[in-house]
Amino acid sequence: MTTATERLGAPAGSSCQICVSLAAAEKTDLQRGLAAVTDADLIEVRLDALAEPLACDDNFFAALHGRSPAPVGFTCRPQWEGGSFRGTEGERRQVLEMAARGGAAFIDVEQDAEWAESFIGGTSVPVILSHHWLSPRPADLGERAQRMQAVGPAIAKLVAPAATPADAIPLLAAGAELVASGQPATAFCIGSAGTSSRVLAVAQGAALIYAAQPHSESVAEGQWPVETLREQLLLQRWRSGFDCCALAGHPIDHSLSPAIFNAAFDALDQPMGYLPVAHSEIEPVLELATAIGLRGLSVTMPFKQVVLQHCAELDPLAVAIGAVNTLVADPGGWRGCNTDAAAVASALRDVCEISGSRVAILGAGGAARAAAFALSAQGAAITLCNRTRARADDLAQQVGGQSAPIEILTSDPYDIIINATPIGMSGWNEEPHTPFPVEWLRGDEVVFDFVYRPRETTLLRLAAQRGCTIVEGLEMFVRQAAEQYRLWVGGDSAAPLDIMRRAAEKALRRR
Ligand code: NAP
Repeated sequence: MTTATERLGAPAGSSCQICVSLAAAEKTDLQRGLAAVTDADLIEVRLDALAEPLACDDNFFAALHGRSPAPVGFTCRPQWEGGSFRGTEGERRQVLEMAARGGAAFIDVEQDAEWAESFIGGTSVPVILSHHWLSPRPADLGERAQRMQAVGPAIAKLVAPAATPADAIPLLAAGAELVASGQPATAFCIGSAGTSSRVLAVAQGAALIYAAQPHSESVAEGQWPVETLREQLLLQRWRSGFDCCALAGHPIDHSLSPAIFNAAFDALDQPMGYLPVAHSEIEPVLELATAIGLRGLSVTMPFKQVVLQHCAELDPLAVAIGAVNTLVADPGGWRGCNTDAAAVASALRDVCEISGSRVAILGAGGAARAAAFALSAQGAAITLCNRTRARADDLAQQVGGQSAPIEILTSDPYDIIINATPIGMSGWNEEPHTPFPVEWLRGDEVVFDFVYRPRETTLLRLAAQRGCTIVEGLEMFVRQAAEQYRLWVGGDSAAPLDIMRRAAEKALRRR
């Protein structure tokens, strides 16, 4: 039996095709947009967006196909289903029949079009039978999915908006059910809260994912840029049945984690994928993660503290630090861990002896707490210097260290100095650009800057010039990810640290 993706000309071995959506009011703009598309398996042209869709003739379609870097399919969405086409149903069918005759790779027809089934019966072009709801969690989802399956289109497409990521749960379940029954399908949510569902659907066997053309606005809110799908998510390697892990945080648009984890899974041929799930509240993200069986989550700002209350079990170190950056799906619920602490110790162990060393930590926030607990447990003597002295006092007491004003660096010698404040990060416009005057350095210290954007901070650059050994924040970032990898993949699985480091460096350079 030929699969829908084969009928649509899918590259050999791929499970899901990336379909770039294009819409323009003017034909010339559409043609320009089409010619600029890169890395798409398919292109969908929204004929209803044209100012004069009824004026599309054979020459128009021939010109489009002639310029296109990928097979082109067509939609002419009516107003009654969220589109822009204003003509009659007869006219709409006529436009789509012309498109089909003109060499379309597929035609998308709404399930509610009275002529949908006769259109399917009368054409050899693969038809995507679709339904687009206008409000989340539609009550008739199951019934519609069944009716679609009875028709047996090339692809059944079910789309609803999402107010939270959890609204995608029924859509993803319906899509997975269709696929399991042998009906090629794609079911996902639109809107910014539905972004993650588009990719999760791929791990459940979706035949298509709609994407935005590079450097242009997406046609539907929540579409991923095609280059992000290919370069960071490596979506071309995702297969039905992949286990997924995700990043929960807000905002996380520029996170390095998707590039790092997908590169690691790819390098070790793990049938796993990693995606960001951005939302302003953690609860719907956890609801989605539990419902679809995510294997784990990275947790970042602003959820590192609040997530503790959602854990069935907590690693003692995470309790002491008061922050969780990793969730592992255990049979009894989420296990909360903190891999920042292990990352700090591991990065430092590569360059110096921790036991017996004198460590000054600048800051008393989450990252400073992870460092203080990790290094005091390894036998270091800790001094906390923080803008708000009371927080430093408190943390010093918890780790058996001392707190002091930052000027202590001028009088007392330290083996290791850690910047756990945001001073020096990209966009830091305040004076000073280093957390202390670098003239205070003697030159024999290890200077570790947790800031990793930019990779080489002013502090690190000047410390290196003074002869100090430097440790980059990127090293901590990569190592905390490597520890997450071990927790999720299980057993003694060692993460491919070099691969992850290179992926992080590449992602940082790209930005
Ligand atoms: P946080 O919990 O918000 O703590 C920030 C700390 O910096 C607080 O102690 C704060 O002092 C201090 N601070 C903020 N602005 C300051 C200023 N202008 N002058 C002096 N001190 C200032 O943040 P965090 O999560 O600990 O993160 C701290 C830094 O580490 C960030 O740059 C973050 O990107 C980086 N980090 C890196 C990694 C990695 O993997 N490389 C991991 C985690 C964090 P007050 O107590 O007085 O507010």
